[in-house]
Amino acid sequence: MAFDTLGLSEKVLAAVEAAGYKEPTAIQSGAIPQVLERRDILGIAQTGTGKTASFTLPMLTLLEKGRARARMPRTLILEPTRELAAQVQENFEKYGTNHKLNVALLIGGVSFAEQDKKLDRGTDVLIATPGRLLDHFERGKLLLQGVEILVIDEADRMLDMGFIPDIERICKLIPFTRQTLFFSATMPPEIQRLTETFLQNPARIEV
Ligand code: AMP
Repeated sequence: MAFDTLGLSEKVLAAVEAAGYKEPTAIQSGAIPQVLERRDILGIAQTGTGKTASFTLPMLTLLEKGRARARMPRTLILEPTRELAAQVQENFEKYGTNHKLNVALLIGGVSFAEQDKKLDRGTDVLIATPGRLLDHFERGKLLLQGVEILVIDEADRMLDMGFIPDIERICKLIPFTRQTLFFSATMPPEIQRLTETFLQNPARIEV
């Protein structure tokens, strides 16, 4: 299988080539065409399988149409830790060098004022930890009804860290017409239940 058969845009394919990737990994060839068809995804995959690019690359392709409005992020990616959130941001920067997209990170340890400024100018890709995202929401600085794609990454780690109530709250704040991409390395019963509540007819990809 080759990257150029998956439906990715020219700009994204150029970035993949620049990264030196020859072939998509299993999670990438399984997920990318389904994301581009706007299906929900249930990806059962560990870190190290190329999971991050399996959502980053098709999201960049989809984001080429349309533009961001102030305080209304177009896509939201939830990560359990600051470090993982920062890694996802690096991925968007690496693969999105040919895109003029605004990417913002909402994690603890950074001033609200600085993060507010980024939200005000309009955000195409918002990457956040759940607690910090809800802090901004409660301050009235963030509107979630424009989110078209929601990514819940490392769901089993979210469970270990006690974030499931926050995730449930965030899922309810985003219109159900969204597309949801859900990734977990394992599927304990609490995570299974979450996927049944918040995913609509997902394509299941297990690697
Ligand atoms: P991840 O599972 O998203 O943490 O990715 C693990 C590593 O694999 C990262 O360093 C990526 O740069 C790399 N990677 C992702 N996709 C590919 C690919 N198709 N070919 C080679 N390396 C890749």
